[in-house]
Formats: sequence, C-alpha cells, structure tokens
Amino acid sequence: MIRISTTSKLDGIRSWSLQALDTCPGSKNADGSLVDACSGCYATTGNYRYPNVKAPRLENREDWQRLEWVDDMVKALQNDRYFRWFDSGDMYAIGLAQKILEVMQRTPWVSHWLPTRMHKFPKFRDVLTSMQALDNVMVRFSSDSVRGEFVQGLHGSVIVPTPDIVPSGVSLCQAYANGGKCSGCRACYDKAVAVIAYPAHGKKMNKVIMLKKAA
Ligand code: SF4
Repeated sequence: MIRISTTSKLDGIRSWSLQALDTCPGSKNADGSLVDACSGCYATTGNYRYPNVKAPRLENREDWQRLEWVDDMVKALQNDRYFRWFDSGDMYAIGLAQKILEVMQRTPWVSHWLPTRMHKFPKFRDVLTSMQALDNVMVRFSSDSVRGEFVQGLHGSVIVPTPDIVPSGVSLCQAYANGGKCSGCRACYDKAVAVIAYPAHGKKMNKVIMLKKAA
C-alpha cells in the first residue's frame, strides 16, 4: 500500500519517505562518521521518533519492491501538482531509483523535487541524469556542509548557520521568516533556482554548528 506523508512546512504538499539514516548511505564519511549536515538531521528528532511517524517510513522500505508499486504511485499522484521525495531518508537502492524515474516520467503534471546524496555513488549517476533531464523534475544534490560550503555546478542545496550568511548566487529559503512554512514559495521545485540555502534550525543542528565553530 502506498504510504504518503505530509509535513506542516510544505503547504500540504505530499511526500514519500523512508527512515532517516538507515536508508542514507551518503550520510557517512569514509571513516563511518556522519557528515556534518546529517549529524544534525531533523528527521531523527521530535515527531520523527513517534511510532506512527516511523511506521509508514519502515513499511515503504518493503513496499517499493512490489511489482505494482510504480502503477500505484502514478495513481496516488493523480491530484498532486507538486511532490517532494524523501522528507526523510534517501534513494538508497538502484532499483528504487529506477522505479522513481518511471513514476516521474509517467506523471508530467507533477513538479517533483528530489533532494539526495546518492550522487556520491557512481552507479546512480545515469539514473540521476535521466531524472534531471525531465522538465518536471528538480534533483538537488545536497552539500554535506553546515557552513554554506558547496561545489558550484554540483550541489543544489546547502545549510547555512544563519540567514545572514548566504553565499553569493544562492537563494535563501525564507521559511524561517514565515513561521517555518513555505507559504507559497516553490523554489525547491524550480529548475531556474540553482542552489538554495537553508538556515540551520533545531537544537541538534545548532549544537553541530557550535561544535564546528569551536573546532
Ligand atoms: S526554498 Fe521555498 S519551497 Fe524550498 S523549503 Fe524554502 S520556502 Fe519551501
């Protein structure tokens, strides 16, 4: 069964998600430690710890492997105009990536936003390129930095410590100024917006930033 979630931030725009970190191979450094951006991950705190929030994410890990999953996702998106993949978790398996590509191809009426760190793995590059070539898809490769550092032409998003530290040429997410809500902004889905900076939020992320400053 298709399990869709909604988060208060996204103006009711729906998501398909997995459990954070368990499905995020790109969250780790070579030594097995978490990259900075994932050390403060919002999806491991607050509401995300509740069983009713975890359950659909755990079920989705099994569910996508069904033969009918692509057909069922296309049906589930009949009335959506925007869709966010992975409010939590990542596209950890190549089989899942190929199925998501098919869903994107068969739902041209939907603007898809897919944030990911799977670009770190060469076997995902072809499928990510095919996704990004679609007019209705914006794939954003996430930078690991929490200090606004990113690679031009590669990354599509980065965390900044505060809203006043925004690298040049980068669009600042304004949700922080709008009660934590998108409030009509759709920049993340927009191919014309190359890189978005998200101001850090949450106790866990602020602690990571304090530690980086002290280092
Ligand atoms: S940049 Fe716009 S669409 Fe993206 S999260 Fe921020 S407010 Fe929402």
